[in-house]
Amino acid sequence: MQIVQSVSCYCCGCSDLVTAISYSRPPEGETRFAFSDDSYFREVVRCVRCSHFMSRHEMDDSMLYTQDYVTATYGDDGFQNTFDRIISLPADRSDNVGRCNRILEFAKKNLLTATCEDREPTILDVGSGLCVFLYEMKKRGWRGTAMDPDPRAVFHAQNVVQVDAVCADFFQCDEVGRFDLITFNKVLEHVQDPVAMLAKSKSFLNDGGFIYIELPDGESAVHLGPGREEFFIEHHHVFSLASIAMLALRSGFVVNCIERLQEPSTKYTLRAFLSRDPSCCN
Ligand SMILES: [Zn+2]
Repeated sequence: MQIVQSVSCYCCGCSDLVTAISYSRPPEGETRFAFSDDSYFREVVRCVRCSHFMSRHEMDDSMLYTQDYVTATYGDDGFQNTFDRIISLPADRSDNVGRCNRILEFAKKNLLTATCEDREPTILDVGSGLCVFLYEMKKRGWRGTAMDPDPRAVFHAQNVVQVDAVCADFFQCDEVGRFDLITFNKVLEHVQDPVAMLAKSKSFLNDGGFIYIELPDGESAVHLGPGREEFFIEHHHVFSLASIAMLALRSGFVVNCIERLQEPSTKYTLRAFLSRDPSCCN
């Protein structure tokens, strides 16, 4: 099967791309989606200038998030079980608790307290999935709103986690209110145009608020072989320190900080705090 190559890097525009990984069958551990059942061929290309990675194939994954994703990822009855397992992890083995601790530490120093002096601080979590993040943030005193295109995820957020929830594709959503914090926890790598998605979030951000993004770190994972989950088929983009910075800047944000880490689950991750206000950076 012939691969349709990008003519240039999505993040920096450089036309010098090299093949980093080729797959002729799904790597072990990758979720089997209906569209990838037959002839599987895929490449991950790397930009020589900014080290951004892009997945390229000709399989039709256009309906992935409206039909197949939750069932294929969690199974028909696995949603609640997966949620229960994750929230039961000890704090030092939980990616989610580590994420919440870091966000709260940043918010304590940087969120303009005048904006939420007399009320709970608010979060919009885009692509809320299992909603473990808002479950934990709710325990820490934040008011969460979940957004997900899958009705099962929204039902779970409303009825199990008991937060506000919106069933919507973020690209199609015009009015959900304004928030002190908007989070994209391993979400932007799943869309073809993460700059457009991130840029859209500006209209939902309160003055003095910030954005938190979390993305797979291709630079760290690529040296460990083709089986790393950072490069699984549902990720159109896999980032580097340079490309996460460009993603933020091209979306119209100031970068407050970018961090690289390996999480308790072993995932290699980049995370960044962004804002519209340069004075917020300390
Ligand atoms: Zn590039």
